Amino acid sequence: MSLKTKEEYLDSLRHMKKRVFIFGEEIEDYVDHPMIRPSINAIASTYELSHQPEHKELITAKSSLTGERINRFTHLFQSTDDLVKKVKMQRLLGQRTGTCFQRCVGMDGFNAVDIVTYKIDQDLGTEYNTKFRRFLENVQLEDLVVDGAMTDPKGDRRLSPSEQNELDLYLRIVDRNDDGITIRGAKLHQTGAINSHELMVMPTRALKESEQDFAVVCALPADANGIIFVFGRQASDSRRLEEGEIDVGNLQFGGHEAVVIFEDVFVPWERVFMCGECQYSGELVEIFAGYHRASYGGCKSGVGDVLIGASQAVARYQGTETAYHIKDKIVEMIHLNETIYAGGIATSYEGKETPSGTYMIDKLLANVCKLNVTRFPYEIARLAQDIAGGLLVTMPSEKDFANEEVGPLLRKYLAGVKTYPTEYRQRILRLIENITIGAGAVSYLAESMHGAGSPMAQRIMLKRLANLDQKEGLANRIAGIQKEMK
Ligand code: SF4
Repeated sequence: MSLKTKEEYLDSLRHMKKRVFIFGEEIEDYVDHPMIRPSINAIASTYELSHQPEHKELITAKSSLTGERINRFTHLFQSTDDLVKKVKMQRLLGQRTGTCFQRCVGMDGFNAVDIVTYKIDQDLGTEYNTKFRRFLENVQLEDLVVDGAMTDPKGDRRLSPSEQNELDLYLRIVDRNDDGITIRGAKLHQTGAINSHELMVMPTRALKESEQDFAVVCALPADANGIIFVFGRQASDSRRLEEGEIDVGNLQFGGHEAVVIFEDVFVPWERVFMCGECQYSGELVEIFAGYHRASYGGCKSGVGDVLIGASQAVARYQGTETAYHIKDKIVEMIHLNETIYAGGIATSYEGKETPSGTYMIDKLLANVCKLNVTRFPYEIARLAQDIAGGLLVTMPSEKDFANEEVGPLLRKYLAGVKTYPTEYRQRILRLIENITIGAGAVSYLAESMHGAGSPMAQRIMLKRLANLDQKEGLANRIAGIQKEMK
């Protein structure tokens, strides 16, 4: 079986025995928990669309490992066309869900691990890439969701992993034997981790020669002994626990982030893809970050499409649609959103083949793309709030609208253009609220700022990759300054 249906995905989660905590309690049925289920629905869309003929070309690919038709989220990129299709697929899913659909971290992680393990094997004669590809073949065959687990807690940021008072603040190997390794630590901000079948652990930073215990890449089932998930809160998330549907804004979908704790978890050798080769950890982080920074060009422009559509709709319902300044604000939103997308597409077209056969995006353009993403969604959100008006944050609850006495009065006084029911206005304002200040803002804004690295990380890369000496040489030559060209 290579392409699971949405129902098969939900069933497969139900068969897993994960330890999940939310609001201070361990829960059994996390699949149907009202605060977790929207994020599961978002991932389930990646399965649903893979069976729709009109989306097959984008959502599926031919496996380079087995020749089978597989979900693109489990694919090793074999061409620039694959890289472009990935970004288009992400825009499509952003448009469908209006949120983070969580499955890209694993996908980008596979490609980074493939490139780096191949290099380690070539340099050191190890067999990490062979083991990794065997693992990935099974992921493709079973159509699994894999959480790419990279971000360590990091403790005191002035200190490297081996200098921390508490060594577990960076996930590390605490034991090795003939059968495998034991790891301990935690990973933060784990997008969609609770909804995953597997976790693929990677180091979070470049490491020193003396920090071999922190240089570990391995994969483990998400319900392995010793793994604990703690669900991360989001603004307005408990609206999911209320009756009704309008006040949540995004009726079906949401994202989630979790803290994942590894309490002495055993990993057999066949699932270990890096063990102590700290000289490669910085490169792995950089390649993964490059892929994921490009991914934002797809998903965030897709969510941006939803927000632009919501802004246009609310203007129509309120009767401001034809005002010049509203039209201009919508145009500005489109300009910013398409600039985000252009970055994702450009970095993909400029991709190159690596020695493992897997294609890598253009790192400079990927960092430009992500740096735009740390700003433009905030401006798009500001414009959406401007167009929406104050009712965005002063509107009474769905229960008030349902009340026998005040409900009809609210519908009368909050009506806009008479051809549209007041409820349209109510629903679309809640959607804008969700994406710009509610639970959805975690995906659209905070994730845009910090996901795949905060803005400073991209600025450092721009300085490193932009070849300033060459630019200076260009200027000197044109200005007639006699200086050796570099
Ligand atoms: Fe995918 Fe975007 Fe979510 Fe990352 S932030 S997992 S690229 S949807």
